[in-house]
Amino acid sequence: MTTEQGTDAPEDGPAPIGLSPDEFRALGYRLVDRIAEFLETLPERPVMPEVTPAGVRALLGQGPMPEDGADPATIIDEAASLIIDHNRLTGHPRQWGYIIGSAAPLGALADLLAGAVNPNVVSWPSSPMATEIELQAVRWIADLLGYPADCGGLFTSGGNAANFIGFLAARRARADWDVRAAGIGDARRLRVYVSRETHTWIEKAADLFGLGTDAIRWIETDGALRMDLAALERRIDEDQANGDRPFLVVGTAGTVSTGAVDPLPEMAALCRERGLWFHVDGAYGALAIVAPDTPDALRGLREADSIAIDAHKWLYAPLEGGCALVRDRKTLRDTFSYRPPYYHYPGDLDEALVNFHDYGLQNSRGFRALKVWMILRQLGRKQYARLVARDIGHARELHQRLDEAPDIEAVTQALSITTFRYAPGDLAPATEAVESYLDDLNAALLTRIQRSGEAFLSNAVVGGRFLLRACITNFRTTRDDVRALPEIVTRLGREVDREMRPEALRRAGGEARR
Ligand SMILES: *Cc1c(COP(=O)(O)O)cnc(C)c1O
Repeated sequence: MTTEQGTDAPEDGPAPIGLSPDEFRALGYRLVDRIAEFLETLPERPVMPEVTPAGVRALLGQGPMPEDGADPATIIDEAASLIIDHNRLTGHPRQWGYIIGSAAPLGALADLLAGAVNPNVVSWPSSPMATEIELQAVRWIADLLGYPADCGGLFTSGGNAANFIGFLAARRARADWDVRAAGIGDARRLRVYVSRETHTWIEKAADLFGLGTDAIRWIETDGALRMDLAALERRIDEDQANGDRPFLVVGTAGTVSTGAVDPLPEMAALCRERGLWFHVDGAYGALAIVAPDTPDALRGLREADSIAIDAHKWLYAPLEGGCALVRDRKTLRDTFSYRPPYYHYPGDLDEALVNFHDYGLQNSRGFRALKVWMILRQLGRKQYARLVARDIGHARELHQRLDEAPDIEAVTQALSITTFRYAPGDLAPATEAVESYLDDLNAALLTRIQRSGEAFLSNAVVGGRFLLRACITNFRTTRDDVRALPEIVTRLGREVDREMRPEALRRAGGEARR
């Protein structure tokens, strides 16, 4: 063997990237102690620390890649402080913004284990047990949903990626040409039907997978923000009459803004009748099906051709983890499988073994399934259902308490999402000027609440109006946390109102009070 001139012969001995078992133990215990302390103090910390871009960059330092390495213990301490103190704490009991689950601590340990053993869940021969654990976790999720246990499925990075799997399976199954080889020609005109409340993944999917966003038919919603069935059917008829090719209808089981559940059973029936693929985006709300007293329409997801769920939302797993389920596992394989010549699997292995590179977008794959599998085992079905029901109960109580507060209007409540706005009683919310002021007031109030660190909310726009929004997928939330919110909103709302209210409305307010 020849070496390049001037290159030293490789050194022998331990590489600077390795850790001896004793070093690993010491560092690991140190980190675990730090994390335990973090978890213990979580409720007392601000949900959102005060940050500025300049401050965060200064703390991190903006130097170039260091020439020399550093001591792992120092790196661990610094990394822990940096990320604990300067991020929104997604696991905080009063973190109710967007949709993110409070993460189960067991999930963090699962990630440590997965990272240490580092199985590549690309193929069965590569990771026999990890593959079987992932398959079991997928079956358990199907079981929780009441979906066929022999479906195909796999873990993904999140809800977007899980929805992409359903979209691509639909494209493969419903295009009546070889779309994988020929692609999407101009004349193909595949059309997809979604409600106006659908998450932005659909635009990314239509764009990335060659249909273009003009292929999306945005269907109107009813008063409860669910897809309008008559409008859906009308649009499919129109497109068919024009020579377009409807292929996919997407129902949402829990919309991002308000938690609305589309009329899934009726949509499933329509899809069956018309030969269309029915995909359910259940990233937020599909798993609410385990709780009593949730919308009957959720049951319709059992008839879907594919479903997306998100483990880092209502399965309380740490980021990242989504899960895609496809009723017919052969379709899933037909959508994604390519066999490179360098994947030579031993001939005596069972044909039916699953190689996950045949099932999705990724080739090499981490072991995301482990944390979900461990959390599901920790809870069992009964406890899991109880946690989901408790989140929903909290959101309902929140709605009721906000509704009782004199200067707050509670607006929508569905699944574990409650929307509302601060509306001072001396403003009669009738004129457009008042409504428009309330939009500005609540937008400013949202920022004030987020900066306060007392609770974290996000917003929704319903019927053109700006609302505050709490989504509780948080096993750390207590009843006291819920009961604290009306006072926080009222106190900070008054403050912002005093600062912002325009002169004209001040007078109107004065008159209304007299
Ligand atoms: C969160 C969410 C998504 C996107 O999921 P990510 O995990 O953020 O990729 C898609 N659809 C719905 C309904 C969601 O709630």
